[in-house]
Amino acid sequence: MPTAPSPSAKPIIAGSFSGLDELPDAAAVVDADGVLVWANPMLWRLLRTTDLLGQPAREVIDLRTADDLDWWDTDPLGTDPTLIRRMAEQELVLRRDRTTHVVAVTASRLRGDAVPGGLLMVLRRADARRRRDVARSDLVSTVSHELRAPLTSVKGFTKTLLSKWDRFSDDQRRQMLATVNEDADRVTRLLGELLAVSRIDAGRLALRRQMVRLDVLVPRVVNGIQAGAGQGRTITVSHDNPPELYADPDRLDQVLTNLVENAVKYTDDEILIDVTTGQDTVQVTVADRGPGIEPEFRTAIFTKFFRRPGEKRQGTGLGLYITKGLVEAHGGEIWAEDGEDEGSVFRFTLPQGGLELSGIDFHALRASTTKTSTTTNTSTTHRES
Ligand code: ADP
Repeated sequence: MPTAPSPSAKPIIAGSFSGLDELPDAAAVVDADGVLVWANPMLWRLLRTTDLLGQPAREVIDLRTADDLDWWDTDPLGTDPTLIRRMAEQELVLRRDRTTHVVAVTASRLRGDAVPGGLLMVLRRADARRRRDVARSDLVSTVSHELRAPLTSVKGFTKTLLSKWDRFSDDQRRQMLATVNEDADRVTRLLGELLAVSRIDAGRLALRRQMVRLDVLVPRVVNGIQAGAGQGRTITVSHDNPPELYADPDRLDQVLTNLVENAVKYTDDEILIDVTTGQDTVQVTVADRGPGIEPEFRTAIFTKFFRRPGEKRQGTGLGLYITKGLVEAHGGEIWAEDGEDEGSVFRFTLPQGGLELSGIDFHALRASTTKTSTTTNTSTTHRES
């Protein structure tokens, strides 16, 4: 934080720049001799000092180019003040103490007599923008890699089959085509997930909200999984009398499916799902008795393409990232915690209400909610709250 200005922070030039004190970006005026003659509070904050004025600008504003050249030596506006008046924005590295920051810098040659031949500079922190750019290009390279693997296999098998069809038995051909089929499914799944990721990242995830009963939706999702990936598995559902939520049932289905399918993937043992109504939220828990998740990975598992070190790749590593995005789009939260004995416990909350979005009085509706559950699934237990 900037401290109170010391005497040297008083502008050396007349008050013609005082209106710029309120500028949200750091700004400075450098005279024709390279001396800093004016700085605004945002520059004190950026440089963590008010002791700036009267000093050579190149010493107090230590800027380096991408090639690690001293920016002040690059003569950004040329020597002839009449030629170039304004410098296009440049991303530079600002060195301050032992840290560095990326800043976007623009500069203009000043007209008028206040500071003849002087330079007005504006510096804007660009670390976040740079981080976003890096994250984006990381995503592109990971995605290319993820897509290349199955496509290479599809290409390899189809090419082999086309050129050497007669050399393979029916069984071998079937096996190869089954692999091609799986890889094509994988590409389709990955593309679907990437679409969801890009919507989540851009904050453009559209929810089709309607009244949803979790005591109906959860058993339905579980039945679906028991008929497919979780065949023969014991999945026990318990719930109190959750109020109807104003939510997107397809997205909630996706959230639950991701969590329960993960549990199915990591354990052969029983899986427990619980729905409990809190003060303002409904909390859903999915617990398994698998290997569990070490505390140090419990945040990282929700990031894109996360894999535990040494873990054999199975899915895309996007499942929990999307799950988190879907829960948060509903205004809820999701986290992983310690299982009572062992295993993983995932919990997510969904806010009650949200009905005001559609003009419905949530409290009136809650008062009229019935107290019985209509669920008939045998693995479902109903707790009176
Ligand atoms: P994918 O989409 O590939 O299934 P996820 O994003 O769902 O990946 O999961 C990311 C990582 O979180 C997994 O690779 C695994 O290390 C860990 N994980 C998720 N669910 C469980 C679970 N129930 N038990 C143990 N580890 C889990």
